[in-house]
Amino acid sequence: MKAAEIINLLNEWAPLYLIDEWDNTGFQIGDSKREVKRILISLDLDREVFEKALREDVQMIVTHHPIIFKPLKTLVRDNYKEKLIYDIIKEDIVVYNAHTNLDVAKNGVNETLARVLDIKDTEPLKTTYEEPLYKIVVFVPNSHRDLIIKTLGNEGAGWVGNYSHCTYNVEGVGTFMPREGTNPFIGETNILEKVEETRIETIVEKKDLQRILDKMIKVHPYEEVAYDIYPLANKGKSLGDGRVGEIEKVSLSQYLDKVKKSLNVDNIIVYGDRDRIINRVAVCGGSGSSFIYDAYLREAQVYITGDIKYHDAQYANELGLTIIDAGHYHTEKVILPVIKEYLEEKTQKMVEVQLYNQSSPPYVIY
Ligand SMILES: [Zn+2]
Repeated sequence: MKAAEIINLLNEWAPLYLIDEWDNTGFQIGDSKREVKRILISLDLDREVFEKALREDVQMIVTHHPIIFKPLKTLVRDNYKEKLIYDIIKEDIVVYNAHTNLDVAKNGVNETLARVLDIKDTEPLKTTYEEPLYKIVVFVPNSHRDLIIKTLGNEGAGWVGNYSHCTYNVEGVGTFMPREGTNPFIGETNILEKVEETRIETIVEKKDLQRILDKMIKVHPYEEVAYDIYPLANKGKSLGDGRVGEIEKVSLSQYLDKVKKSLNVDNIIVYGDRDRIINRVAVCGGSGSSFIYDAYLREAQVYITGDIKYHDAQYANELGLTIIDAGHYHTEKVILPVIKEYLEEKTQKMVEVQLYNQSSPPYVIY
């Protein structure tokens, strides 16, 4: 597969419009036309990961953290970061990363972290994006109504709550006159035609709009398909930083054991009362101290994240929020197998996907 195809698949999952404004992430190094047979997935890209990629004859490295974050002013082989980038280019390796967009995406870092910790009914801690919704209205001869309804639904149109394939249909009469140079499915040139048609309307998310239209037009029998697109004021799915949701009532100390086991860590740092009974938990993979107040506003009793400073934890405790610092690495590593599964499924295993050193962080607690 070409690198560009794999990049498109990853961008579909973690769209670029979800990237935070301070962030710099996406397709960062390499040739999009490069043929990719093997992919290596890692949280970070350092010399060790690069060397592993060379040993394993990997053509593409996918990471969560961007290798190029601050703009480069030079690209010389005399300092650490630039030397690594220089060598990556020389070896013709493609580098892609999905950072803040993967944090907030559906099935991204935070949803995965919440799922691993058995947190249910989750919503973002802080909404950063609401998916715009559109209405598609299409006119179709009755003979092809069911085909169009099925196609729209199968492509992801018509979701209302947990109901898919929702459409509304009204029968009527369509008129048209085929002119010179046309090749009509029904009717003859220069004769006004009247056809029993159905007006089908359904709802789609912006991200799916073009794909669904293309598919619908492809299966529609008419040479020129009549359809309308209306922007809606209805609010779509909300995405954002962190997640908050419910767990079964449990004492904090019991839940701590669960966190350690689920994240496969030996040590976590806890600030707050361990005898407390809890059932509402917030999470943010990586460095989440800036969402302490959001966790409090969302009525979480416990907030699990990484990189918590002493005074941040004191502040949280004053708000009545217990803090679990499970580590930046451990709260983000959960996404690595999910990226692997996604790529294997979407590429139908046409590429081989490997995880780099998934279970151990780049440090020890001694
Ligand atoms: Zn991170």
